[in-house]
Amino acid sequence: MTTRSPQPGPPDRPGPPDLVVPERFRSTGGAAHCGWAAGALARYLAPGAVAVDLRAVLPLDEPVQVRVDERRDGADGGRATAWDGDRLLMEATHWERPLETLAPVDPALARTAARAGVVPGPALHPVPVCFCCGCDRSAADGLRIHPGHVPGSARGLVATTWTPHASTGATGASTATLPVTWAAIDCVGAWAGTLSDRLLVHQRLVVEVLDLPRLGEEHVVVAAVQGTLGDRVHTVAALHDVQGRLLARAEHLWRDVLHHDDHLLRAGAGPS
Ligand SMILES: [Zn+2]
Repeated sequence: MTTRSPQPGPPDRPGPPDLVVPERFRSTGGAAHCGWAAGALARYLAPGAVAVDLRAVLPLDEPVQVRVDERRDGADGGRATAWDGDRLLMEATHWERPLETLAPVDPALARTAARAGVVPGPALHPVPVCFCCGCDRSAADGLRIHPGHVPGSARGLVATTWTPHASTGATGASTATLPVTWAAIDCVGAWAGTLSDRLLVHQRLVVEVLDLPRLGEEHVVVAAVQGTLGDRVHTVAALHDVQGRLLARAEHLWRDVLHHDDHLLRAGAGPS
């Protein structure tokens, strides 16, 4: 597959070993958006597919410490972890197994699906201020990715179009940042997994970004359910451009915490 520059790899890597989630990239009022935060940690390992296990939510506007362990062969980037003192918050590792790739959905069909969207208004939305799927965010602030079920599809397939706002890129860049790209294919999995009917929180997020989405250009976000087992829900998501070219794919593992006591919920985690 051909890719366009800039690549989501070493040039996008952060410098100092601290990670700060600005308040804009929030999920609930005081917690970081898990997809954005996971993507920020994944920069230490990109390019390639990266799995992030989420142990606890990250704070907003406060630095957490990042440690990058070396591979056994001595190269950088075998494992990256985020810490609050001696408390492990997130762990990122390279993901070697192939990820499922959803077929692209035609942009016109995605728009039709979104118009009958599954994301409710502020009165019923579990996290109305969510950076990705919150309905209580402006287009210049949140991503407002509000998918709907694709008519006639299986596996709870949802889709919507998304045009990255200029503010989602670094200064002078023509593409959204890597953490924003991770965020864009995060919550959509929960909506495919019927977030309207249950409260899903992250266990693991695996993302491979092949190319970053271009600012001001329309893209299509899709997601579907892979399977459920007890309180666990597996979903898959993808980001395509309007020509159907795959830019990023993700697999999510969620846990339905309405029926289970969960350490993430106790820590204040939300669905994103
Ligand atoms: Zn969300």
